Amino acid sequence: MAIDGSKFKAVNNRDRNFTLAKMKRRAEEIDKSIERYLRQLDAMDQGSAVVTEAQTTRLKEKIASLTEEVQQLQSIEIQRTEAPEQQVSLTDPDARSMTTRGTGVVGYNVQTAVDSRHHLIIAHEVTNVGSDRRQLSRMAKQARNASGVSDLHVVADRGYFTGEEILACHEAGITTYLPKPKTSPSQAKGMFPREAFRYVPERNEYRCPARERLVWGFKNVEKGQTLHCYWSSACPSFLMKSQCTTGINRRIKRWEHV
Ligand code: SF4
Repeated sequence: MAIDGSKFKAVNNRDRNFTLAKMKRRAEEIDKSIERYLRQLDAMDQGSAVVTEAQTTRLKEKIASLTEEVQQLQSIEIQRTEAPEQQVSLTDPDARSMTTRGTGVVGYNVQTAVDSRHHLIIAHEVTNVGSDRRQLSRMAKQARNASGVSDLHVVADRGYFTGEEILACHEAGITTYLPKPKTSPSQAKGMFPREAFRYVPERNEYRCPARERLVWGFKNVEKGQTLHCYWSSACPSFLMKSQCTTGINRRIKRWEHV
């Protein structure tokens, strides 16, 4: 099976969806506009500009309309803070603001599992979660139940890659094939990426790019995951250490299930 998500636009347009960021932006725009109109009215009062009554009336109407919008925003803000995911969609209450191909859309993330041999949709689910990161095991299990295939193999893109989801599939007897996201912070700084360190399971240790051994040091729990930590005593005397770590030793952490 292949699993993927597609963003489906809701009837709700973007102007009728309110997130904290959008509301802050709009409130700032309104403040600036009101300030500008008030300055213009002051200038008119002081006679520093030639004005007609119609111009004064128009400015006052604009200020009144913006003040009304502020009141609406305040009432929406109360709904927003109480809403799930802290956002409100006025037309389609279930729709959410999410990104797709670098742009924003208010809609749904429809998950689909397709049989790779016949290209038939085996399972689908409409979600309003923009990210695919927590969708893999649930969709894979649905696909298995719908197809009746006991030895299910599932392929998905790197947006689905999380250790917990892969583990949940593994525990359910489902085999997964996913590319690992390339998000190494070390590589971004021009240093050896995490992938340059090879795990040697029979010795429970790593080999680094300098072919030194990183041995097991300790384990701890971070964000609910038990992590094993490895390092090498050779680091301090390694000539190219600056390409590897800014600390005394480069440390490699491994989740207990990897
Ligand atoms: S700094 Fe340490 S871990 Fe990094 S390449 Fe050198 S010896 Fe290996």
